[in-house]
Amino acid sequence: MAEKIVEVNCLKHIYPDKTSVHFCGLEFCVREGERVAVIGGNGSGKTTLLLHIMGILTPTEGEVKVFGMSPHKKFREVRKHIGVMFQNAEEQILGPTVEEDVAFSLKNDGYPREEINRMVQDILEKCSILPLRKKVPHYLSGGEKRKVALAGSVVARPKLLLLDEPFSGMDPKNRTELMDLLNLFNQNLGTALVLTTHDLNILPVIADTVYLLSGGKIIFRGTVPELFEQEQLLTASNLEPPTLARLCRQLKERGIQIKTPLSTGQAAQEIYLHCSRLTRG
Ligand code: ADP
Repeated sequence: MAEKIVEVNCLKHIYPDKTSVHFCGLEFCVREGERVAVIGGNGSGKTTLLLHIMGILTPTEGEVKVFGMSPHKKFREVRKHIGVMFQNAEEQILGPTVEEDVAFSLKNDGYPREEINRMVQDILEKCSILPLRKKVPHYLSGGEKRKVALAGSVVARPKLLLLDEPFSGMDPKNRTELMDLLNLFNQNLGTALVLTTHDLNILPVIADTVYLLSGGKIIFRGTVPELFEQEQLLTASNLEPPTLARLCRQLKERGIQIKTPLSTGQAAQEIYLHCSRLTRG
């Protein structure tokens, strides 16, 4: 089994205004190359968890280990291996042009000029934004800005990429393009992903393992098919159960048993098979 690169054990965080956030219940862990989704209603602690993994916050109680180190103590060392994409890409883009922005972290880390040019060119090509290299980021569309922010966060080939609500507010075309890119980095470079979302319909395409945060606890850890069986748990956690899970349950209520589908194609196939059996019978 792949090695654990993130481990969070019974973490408790108390903000200065005394707001308390807990992550007890199940252990949270991420293995090399794993795609992990963290889901939960508003205020369930998803962003707080990411901030602890980044080392920006210090645990009040409990333990966070990233690559075997405490991220708040070994901040620079841990951050060398982590890429981060915030929800608001605009706040993350600082360079005057796209290519200068993407080169920013490499310059800071002292890479030689030629190496920087090669790495920036490579990542801009992979993200299909090479023609934008001389553009001023401020004038780009929302989808383009997210791609620039993503290029900047993966240019140094981090082993772990943290993404806070990466798809919120995106139109379907841009969302699909961004998901394809994340899966490409995951498959080709072995980048582990930890992303937060409350859109459960995207999980089959982007997650191997899902953690559900609710009421200060990690109340579920499992695969996407396992999660899709937990409609009541999701509703109780202020999340809208995925469309396919609701379809499956409504068919069951009408006496039609099908395996919970993970795509509309699978749903169509399961229903088709069911109908074929009926006509044969
Ligand atoms: P989520 O990302 O799931 O919406 P957050 O991690 O942002 O949840 O927030 C968890 C809880 O912590 C919420 O009750 C939120 O109001 C509180 N919180 C987040 N940031 C701060 C802060 N800087 N100061 C005080 N409370 C905060």
